[in-house]
Amino acid sequence: MHTKTIKQLSALLHARQISATELTTHFLGRMQRSDLNAFTHIDETLTLQQASAADQRIAKGDTTPLTGIPIAHKDIFVTRGWRSTAGSKMLENYSSPFDATVVEQFNSAGMITLGKLNCDEFAMGSSNENSYFGAVKNPWDKSAVPGGSSGGSAAAIAARLVPAATATDTGGSIRQPASHCGVTGIKPTYGRVSRFGMIAFASSLDQGGPIAKTAEDCALLLNAMAGFDPRDSTSVEREKEDFTRDLNNGLQGLKIGVPREYFGPGLAFDVEQAVRAALKEYEKLGATLVDISLPKTELSIPVYYVIAPAEASSNLSRFDGVRYGHRAKEYTDLSDMYKKTRAEGFGEEVKRRILVGAYVLSHGYYDAYYLQAQKIRRLIAQDFQDAFKQCDVIMGPVSPTVAWDLGDKADDPVANYLADIFTLSTSLAGLPGMSIPCGFGQGGKNAQRPVGLQIIGNYFNEAKLLNVAHRYQSVTDWHQRQPAGS
Ligand code: GLN
Repeated sequence: MHTKTIKQLSALLHARQISATELTTHFLGRMQRSDLNAFTHIDETLTLQQASAADQRIAKGDTTPLTGIPIAHKDIFVTRGWRSTAGSKMLENYSSPFDATVVEQFNSAGMITLGKLNCDEFAMGSSNENSYFGAVKNPWDKSAVPGGSSGGSAAAIAARLVPAATATDTGGSIRQPASHCGVTGIKPTYGRVSRFGMIAFASSLDQGGPIAKTAEDCALLLNAMAGFDPRDSTSVEREKEDFTRDLNNGLQGLKIGVPREYFGPGLAFDVEQAVRAALKEYEKLGATLVDISLPKTELSIPVYYVIAPAEASSNLSRFDGVRYGHRAKEYTDLSDMYKKTRAEGFGEEVKRRILVGAYVLSHGYYDAYYLQAQKIRRLIAQDFQDAFKQCDVIMGPVSPTVAWDLGDKADDPVANYLADIFTLSTSLAGLPGMSIPCGFGQGGKNAQRPVGLQIIGNYFNEAKLLNVAHRYQSVTDWHQRQPAGS
């Protein structure tokens, strides 16, 4: 059952060949037996209650394509019933009184919550080693990182522990772990998916999206996930769309922009080979490759690592021990309570970002760093608009290398930041981007580690991206590969 796509499971549920309860029990069993540390909270009783409610809906014929399908949520979306920790000690025992809009939407579609997925603390990271609850392991090779920050989401899909997962992408956290774990993920256009109830990291960048086995499954999930939400001030008011509508369109005449800057000296040879092979496959499908340039790519790292920490320092000021979350046990006065609470509650990377953020926003430095970064952000977005005059979609690698070993970059934040080079600019521009599996690395342990192809589209072109991804998945089987032992 766990090897089936959502689309296939949905057909079985609707034909009453399996029940939602059977399906849910099967996945709960797999989750319990897993040693990947992909979950922060599981509550079987709550989950089975939802499964039985889904069975009742199915019996009444009151269904959507997602009714009875289990899903797990990145632990950055707040959920009633399940703890909402954001991977932080600060929220270790936090129980939200409400559901995030995204969770509400999946609930009302009749999906079943399997639990909460481990992630880097407050979604800050590229390896999932920054979680207070410990690192997640990559199911392809347990000595490798799964990528971050949505490492739990990607690992759980890859190991077939869950058929669907939510994730968030601020600078690559849907695409990069999807790439490292050989699964499919889409980061929608900024504003497409409500941020209400998504614990905030960098509000002008944060965007939720799905991770699943296939582009078709992602389209089904996005149908429920996307939509205007008056409770999120940056939610975009657009009509609901059916993201499955164009899946089978032909790719004859599709122009694929191949950015020179994404194939420079920093790109590992094995990743380049897999990505170039995927591009060849697209040519066979009728597409043409166009050489393009995104000249500001390199600047996306300094720009992102000024803007994201600036917004984080402001967003995280709410964690002060007064409102909710951790509070230091011993303190002398209010100010001492703030200091001790934050010193104890936040991990190293989060503290680093708060310090950097507070610094670049401070008087005298604001103009030199923050304002400057905002200006370059605008130019990065312009680069893409210039490129889209010559092509329909842009393709390249997601990550310069396959997944690295656990611990390898753990003490080197800059090495982690540099690995984000191909995902940050899409986020800064607010564009939609995908990662689909397109092969493996080469030589020794790399041969077991997946490579992802990145597909970037213009604003609100998700249906196009999913179409382009789906056609590739119709003629290749990388997305069907499963880690040994899963
Ligand atoms: N790796 C990036 C960071 O550490 C992106 C994280 C994300 O997209 N949530 O900030």
